[in-house]
Amino acid sequence: MPRVLIIGAGPGGSALALTLLTRGLDPASITIVESRAFPRVKVCGEFLSPAVSSLLINLVSDAELLRAGAARVDRLVLELGPRERVWPLPDPAWTLSRRTLDDLLLEKVRAAGADVRQPERVADVKYAGDRAVVRLASGETLAVDAVVHADGSGRLDPAGPTPSRRGVVGLKCHFRPRAPIVGVRMRSARGAYIGTVQVESGLATCALVAKSALVARHAGDADALLAELWPDFDPARREGEWLSCGVAGSGYRRPGHPRSLRIGNAAAAVEPVGGEGIGLALWSGSTLGDLLAGAGEWSIDELGRAERTLATKYRRRLVARRPACRAAAAVLVRPALVAALWPALTIPGLSIRPWYALTGKPARGPTPTAVPSRS
Ligand SMILES: Cc1cc2nc3c(=O)[nH]c(=O)nc-3n(C[C@H](O)[C@H](O)[C@H](O)COP(=O)(O)OP(=O)(O)OC[C@H]3O[C@@H](n4cnc5c(N)ncnc54)[C@H](O)[C@@H]3O)c2cc1C
Repeated sequence: MPRVLIIGAGPGGSALALTLLTRGLDPASITIVESRAFPRVKVCGEFLSPAVSSLLINLVSDAELLRAGAARVDRLVLELGPRERVWPLPDPAWTLSRRTLDDLLLEKVRAAGADVRQPERVADVKYAGDRAVVRLASGETLAVDAVVHADGSGRLDPAGPTPSRRGVVGLKCHFRPRAPIVGVRMRSARGAYIGTVQVESGLATCALVAKSALVARHAGDADALLAELWPDFDPARREGEWLSCGVAGSGYRRPGHPRSLRIGNAAAAVEPVGGEGIGLALWSGSTLGDLLAGAGEWSIDELGRAERTLATKYRRRLVARRPACRAAAAVLVRPALVAALWPALTIPGLSIRPWYALTGKPARGPTPTAVPSRS
């Protein structure tokens, strides 16, 4: 049976392993390597796109999600200073911290008998003859038929990492709000946009993408930055440290060797404003799992066909999502522009279905009923 090594146990890597296991691959032929001990906190807004709700509950049942503390959000709130505009979501979304979600998914992979190496780091990958040889930081080497880069960057693939967007930084912390946060809230600020949602255990997530110059102006002090962008944020209610990271952004990046494959952020990354990153990681992991499960002996030709099919599906999935998310981010970091658009945004009955559809979310369902807004 062909052997696969998956680098990274984020949502992409775990979704791939679970799909392969469900499709009958021998658990002993699947190795997943994760450098961090779980549970771990990760920079992310922790909004799970409704585009993958059904896929998510195929991997983890809704009962398990609810037991883990996941919640449903049914509205989007746009904030501009003290003003807000509320839209009911055509299809509700799940929220759950990455601390819990990634652990839940990986525990399922472990329970199904796959070879989980954690904490362990893949140090490098070499292609020798008809195999890929993976060297772990512990010194062990493993020869496999395919390596899947699900490490969030694709750094170890011969084609190199997905580029990060220049001049912006991603930041995130958890905090304990005075009252539960209702809906997913998106705040427009000068040089930044901020997303907040309620997650489990009475905590909420505050995630933002900010211009690096703005962060530098506050000498990297995220509490001071928030005091400027969102004066209602109370740093005394923060739990844990601020985390920061680069913000990836690219179309589908083809792998640099026929025995190398890429999924999740290592394959492509859209602007975080759309809340599509986890969904794309789950979708690409599960799609590649189906393709590999049907790819015979994983010869170079069979792997090449699987990769080309994934590439086509990926590009289709990104065609509207990337520009729609880029445009939304470009508007949100310009509060003066949002203010100019405000009268149009507050037209009674204005639906967010078109935005939902452009970012790949299901825009069907009953007509949402109006929700009162503060303007
Ligand atoms: C500010 C911000 C807010 C965001 N908000 C949202 C949101 O609300 N909703 C949403 O859907 N998306 C959001 N995203 C995007 C989302 O976080 C990513 O798209 C998603 O994490 C990608 O998942 P992945 O499985 O591809 O990779 P990752 O989640 O990055 O997982 C990769 C894993 O690989 C491991 N790893 C790395 N290198 C190695 C190695 N050499 N060996 C072993 N293991 C390794 C890492 O430890 C990590 O656990 C946001 C991103 C940012 C920056």
